[in-house]
Amino acid sequence: MFGKFARCVALSCVLGALLPCLALSGCATAQGDAGGKKVVVVWSEGTAPKDVYPNDINGAIAEGLADMPGWEVVTASIKDPDQGISDDLLKRTDVLIWWGHKKHGLVKNALVAKIENRVKNEGMGFISLHSSHFAKPNKALMGTECSWGAYEGDSSNLRVTVADPAHPIAKGVADFTTVHEERYSEPYAVPEPEAVVFTGVHEIKKGGEDPSRIGLCWHVGKGKFFYFQAGHETNPIFYDKNVRTIMRNAVEWAAPEK
Ligand code: ZN
Repeated sequence: MFGKFARCVALSCVLGALLPCLALSGCATAQGDAGGKKVVVVWSEGTAPKDVYPNDINGAIAEGLADMPGWEVVTASIKDPDQGISDDLLKRTDVLIWWGHKKHGLVKNALVAKIENRVKNEGMGFISLHSSHFAKPNKALMGTECSWGAYEGDSSNLRVTVADPAHPIAKGVADFTTVHEERYSEPYAVPEPEAVVFTGVHEIKKGGEDPSRIGLCWHVGKGKFFYFQAGHETNPIFYDKNVRTIMRNAVEWAAPEK
C-alpha cells in the first residue's frame, strides 16, 4: 500500500493538486486491476526462424509462463497495433519481457520513453533477453553503450553456473548445459550489476572456452531489471526447462510490490 500511495503522491504532483481524482484513477490503472492478476507482457519482433520458433520467441516464453498462479500472460509483437504496447496495456503491465534483434531501429522513441518512465518512475519490471542488449529500451534504462566485447557464432554449448544460489531468480535452478551457438564476450558495457545470478562458459567448436556473465540484475529507479545473455534465435533455448524456470523466477522477482 505504501508503494501505491507514494506513486499517487508523485502523480498528483505532476497533474497538480487541482486534479486529485484523476491522479488517483491513474494510479489505480498503473497498478493493474485491484485484486486481479499481475500482468506480464512478452514482446518480440517476429524475426526468429519458424522451424525453431513457430510462434516466435514471445510465444515460446509465454508458453513457459502460462501456468504461473496469479499472472496474466500477454504476448505482443512489433507487428501489432501500437507496436504491441498500447498505452492501456503498458499501464497495467507489471513486468515487460523484451526480445529484439533486427528491428531495434524501428521501435518508436515515444514508446521507449513511455517504457522508461514506467520502469524508473512507476516500478514496472523489465527483462531484457540476448540481442536485446542493443534494444532501445535496454539502452535507455542502462544509460550506457550496452555493447559486448565480441559477438561470435562459433560456440556449441553454454555451461551455466548458478553464481548466486540465494538469489530469488536462482530458486530451483542447478548448474546446467544448453546448446547455444553464439557467444557474447566480456566486457559488457553496462553499470556494475547489483547481482550476477548466473555466469557461463561458452564451449568453442574449434576448442577453447569463453567465460562471461549470463544473468545480471539492477534496480533502475523504482523498477527492477534483469538481463539474460543466452537466447539466440536459432537455438531452442526458450523451451529448455532450466531457462523456463529462470524466466518464471525473473518475472516474480521483477514484479513491483503491491
Ligand atoms: Zn543471437
